Amino acid sequence: MKVIVVGSSHGGYEAVREVLADQPDAEIQWYEKGDFLSFLSCGMQLYLEGVVKNVNDVRYATPAGMRAQGVSVFTETEISSVDAKKHSVHVIDHAHNKERDEQYDKLILSPGATPATLPVPGNDLKNIYAMRGRDWAIKLKQRTVDPDIQNVVVVGAGYIGIEAAEAFAKAGKHVTVVDMLPRMLAKYLDEELTDILTKEMEEHDIKAAPGQGIKSFSGQNDTVTEVVTDQATYPADLVIVATGIKPNTKWLANVLDLDDHGMINVDDHQKTSADDIYAVGDATLVKFAPTDGTKSPIALATNARRQGRIAGKNAVGIEAKTPFVSGSSALSVFKYNFASTGIKEGTASQYGVKTKSTLVTDTFRPPFVPEENGNAKVWFKLTYDPQTTRILGAQVLSTQDATQNINTISLAIQVKLTLEDLAYTDFFFQPGFDRPWNIMNLAAQQALRDLG
Ligand code: FAD
Repeated sequence: MKVIVVGSSHGGYEAVREVLADQPDAEIQWYEKGDFLSFLSCGMQLYLEGVVKNVNDVRYATPAGMRAQGVSVFTETEISSVDAKKHSVHVIDHAHNKERDEQYDKLILSPGATPATLPVPGNDLKNIYAMRGRDWAIKLKQRTVDPDIQNVVVVGAGYIGIEAAEAFAKAGKHVTVVDMLPRMLAKYLDEELTDILTKEMEEHDIKAAPGQGIKSFSGQNDTVTEVVTDQATYPADLVIVATGIKPNTKWLANVLDLDDHGMINVDDHQKTSADDIYAVGDATLVKFAPTDGTKSPIALATNARRQGRIAGKNAVGIEAKTPFVSGSSALSVFKYNFASTGIKEGTASQYGVKTKSTLVTDTFRPPFVPEENGNAKVWFKLTYDPQTTRILGAQVLSTQDATQNINTISLAIQVKLTLEDLAYTDFFFQPGFDRPWNIMNLAAQQALRDLG
């Protein structure tokens, strides 16, 4: 069997690994149009902050390592079209200026996405950057140490924008974060928690400018100098746009069923509308667990890898279904760590769900444990259906790492647990780790009291 995999980031990598594991004698051809195999944007902040020193380390796999396992690896090689009837793809080898067609038995696509640009005057000025992929990582890193860059404006206060803001603030730059939404990280946390993080960012010279739309970029000598919003003008030597992504699927428009946003329609087996073609990752939608399967664009490496594995299995004839997901994610913002999953009060209307939430605070460990020994306040917010008491989401924040609670809540959502289940679930206690009542127990118990 000959399997062609397109795209070498999370989804493509996982698909290749799965086919290798399940069918070692399969012929695998792996294509990446960029000049670098398997760069992981998730590691960008660590690189920008100097934790990871070499940009080339931010990857899963090297061409040599994969070739040693029998995979034919092609970088700087683009798949420009697919003939689904003939089971063939058109290959453009940019490195050698050559073109050819390749036959496949199974084709797995993980073309991912590129950062969206803002359709406003001045968006073509120099020093307007994006934060995704190795090329941008290298350019951004140069700017962190560039003395000419003093004022940085980040457009978009999602987790990518906040990662960029923190990296540049740590590099000593004055950072402003602009977003149309009324709060920083509004899709990830509710107000009680974003208030804490916004204060933390302001203490590190990051100015929050929420509730503002970008009108234009202005500049001198073709280089950006200002960002103009509908409320203010901000000086900018560098702008980083992190306002969302567009799937890399134009080349598939006449071959596969795409939705209105260009996302590839797939079934629960990651199969597309064409025979023997699978698709995974940011160019596809996932099914949202709290609403029993609403199709949602949740661009996370976790989803891409899960889907890549499912696609790989199905491609080699092992039936597997992608489970619903809750969109669990985590981030640190200076001294705080937060994580969230499922529905928040701030996103409930988007899913058309009626919710109620309960916020509890506690200490990470029993009160007798001194703060310097790892005790700190924890905020935990649980969101549920007030009628059925089904758990729909949660958020956690602390200077300690309490983020793993969110993985537990993700599982609770997936298996449809209720407040009654969670209130008395058996969680361990040891003063070196936590408290006799885990904060998830406490939140569920308080929620039941709140419901009366
Ligand atoms: P992509 O990563 O977009 O990769 C697609 C690849 O396919 C690219 O290399 C592209 O060049 C190649 N390609 C496209 N079309 C073709 C073609 N026609 N021919 C050949 N090659 C092609 N997610 C998390 O879960 N946790 C995190 O902490 C996290 N942090 C992130 C931080 C940043 C700064 C960013 C930008 C993203 C982060 N993500 C994180 C999201 C995660 O990176 C994406 O969800 C993931 O990369 C999606 O993988 P993918 O395989 O779908 O696509």
